Amino acid sequence: MRTQIIVLHRYAYGDSSWIVKALSPDLGVLSLLVKGAKSKNSRFKASIDPLAHSEIEIRYNRSKGNSCLIIPKEAFLQNYFQKMRMNLQSLAAAQLMAEILLKLGNNFSHAAEEFKWLLNNLEYLELNEANENSLSIWLHKLCDILGYAPMLLNCGLCGQKILQAPADLWHSAGGAVCENCLGEKKPSYDQVFLQELGNFANGKSNSRQNCQRIENFFLGHLKVHAGALDNLRSYEWLIETRKLASS
Ligand SMILES: [Zn+2]
Repeated sequence: MRTQIIVLHRYAYGDSSWIVKALSPDLGVLSLLVKGAKSKNSRFKASIDPLAHSEIEIRYNRSKGNSCLIIPKEAFLQNYFQKMRMNLQSLAAAQLMAEILLKLGNNFSHAAEEFKWLLNNLEYLELNEANENSLSIWLHKLCDILGYAPMLLNCGLCGQKILQAPADLWHSAGGAVCENCLGEKKPSYDQVFLQELGNFANGKSNSRQNCQRIENFFLGHLKVHAGALDNLRSYEWLIETRKLASS
């Protein structure tokens, strides 16, 4: 069968081969053993580079599922995202998306949506530079795909529309809490952050310095629900590239 892939990660196997982790909309996260791929004459070349979008031809055994190593017969590069790779921040953002999807692992039922939104973002980053909201939007969408997006535009307790900013965020309420429901209680998040999150939810942009707090909020939310997202190395790198860009 043929399937599209986006390469999430790869590591050397022996002297000449790669083990490639790739997301397919049809099959979820696949482990591909690409023999001889390190050789100059390999027919796979750039099609199995990290973050490449390719189409592969595989012999897929439905009964075994995708838990085993699959040896692709051929790969056809669809998009290498050359311009995205030239921009450090865009590249770091794309690598973080790939790392998160890899760590979340193989959730079959969400693969098509995860693939679509990753591809969408890579195409966006190829045409535009990463902006302060793009990673937050992707993280929010990922929470949504996985079925646990935090409620931001309505109060999670009474359903009332949140006009400016939530009065607080409660995990037990699934997200935002309005002023009425918060009542006399002290909010657990600071006002400035809640306003930034309100801005984000309403499609207004925040400053470059503030975007990291929104990202961390969504990363924390993903961690609570999915676990296994500690030590995101690409996130540290992304923060470094931002410092470089603003200095
Ligand atoms: Zn309420």
